[in-house]
Amino acid sequence: MLYERALERLKSKGLNLDINSFLRTFNRISSIGWVESYGSTRLALTNEHIMARRELLKELENIGAKVLFDEAGNIIAEVGSGSRAIAIGSHLDSVPGGGRFDGVFGIIAGLEILRAIVKSSLRLKHKLILVDFNNEEGSRWNPPLLGSALSVGVYTRDFVYSRLDSNGVTFGEALERSGFKSSAENNLSMNPPRFYIEPHIEQGPELYREGYDIGIPQGIVGLRVLELTFKGRQDHASSHISLRRDSVVGLSKAVLRLREYALKNQDKLRITVGYISVDPGKFNVVPALSKITVDIRSYDSQVIDEATKYTIKVAENIGGEENLSVDYRELWTIPRIVFDPEVTSIIEESCRDLGFKCKRMWSWAGHDAQNMSRITKTAMIFVPSVEGISHSKDEYTREEDLVKGLILLAEVVLRLDEI
Ligand SMILES: [Zn+2]
Repeated sequence: MLYERALERLKSKGLNLDINSFLRTFNRISSIGWVESYGSTRLALTNEHIMARRELLKELENIGAKVLFDEAGNIIAEVGSGSRAIAIGSHLDSVPGGGRFDGVFGIIAGLEILRAIVKSSLRLKHKLILVDFNNEEGSRWNPPLLGSALSVGVYTRDFVYSRLDSNGVTFGEALERSGFKSSAENNLSMNPPRFYIEPHIEQGPELYREGYDIGIPQGIVGLRVLELTFKGRQDHASSHISLRRDSVVGLSKAVLRLREYALKNQDKLRITVGYISVDPGKFNVVPALSKITVDIRSYDSQVIDEATKYTIKVAENIGGEENLSVDYRELWTIPRIVFDPEVTSIIEESCRDLGFKCKRMWSWAGHDAQNMSRITKTAMIFVPSVEGISHSKDEYTREEDLVKGLILLAEVVLRLDEI
């Protein structure tokens, strides 16, 4: 279904979205750092990221928004005069060789809402805020979501400023040089908005494959990361196969068994072995020590606990089969976040009224919304991603889906303003 009728509906309420300008601005800013055949690279506070942010600042200046930075270098732009705020946010940084849509869609959609409100004769009760979060992806400084975490008080300033990138540059040093640094009094925790909405592309093929216009995440799934270590005996490549205690065989069996388990439980669970280390890692040496990380995600904490037990049991069984000693430890656990039910219902009702087919779902990836949900009523809006491909040059969302996400965002902002 196309969106003309929904656009007319907004017009009759006094809000005129400029779809051409939205798409033009999106295409311009999302192409900064783009290299054909590789993808987008705008690592936090590198030249490309700073260039994209400067373009955003120019746009914000054109609409007369008041712009602040906070202690984490987040950009916070305000229009309107209410005492309380409705905030929209996302991020302009990317992973290396990422897509053009992740993050940028939310920022440019928010910008168009601010612009349309300023140009309209509507007088909202709330002011509107657009937040461009710094270092969301965590590709330059780990962990991800650093900007929102400092602004809402999840991490301390010392922790965030002392993070090192791969060249030994701290977040604090790079922030100082970037010109986006300001003081803690501008942090979002000092003056929390009343609502926070984050529009984003889906990062999985659910909406696209099932033919939905919009996804409404109930929240962000919980996550546990384990580390498994298989210890065998270092030996020469000439040693007899049946006499070896080969740690890499244990590692390989674990990867395959965990995949089988994840496949059987795919509706409620994701398991990823994303890191492998083999020691000593020489072509002619049977490795003594092999390590993997196991990332376990689910919206149900019991499923995470069961998968944890299964992972440990599998590792111990393999240890017995291959005569290896096995060790495991939990690296971290992040409980699931549930978004605000009132706001998610408003998003759902808005979809119905606009004629957009929507689906309630879960976000399997982390977003700044999880930090924002600590200080304000938070929800997200997902638009379909072709084949669900993300963090890749092949990431793609059709223009009509971007526009539907934008229209829905506008409708939701108008409704929240009435509460
Ligand atoms: Zn993102």
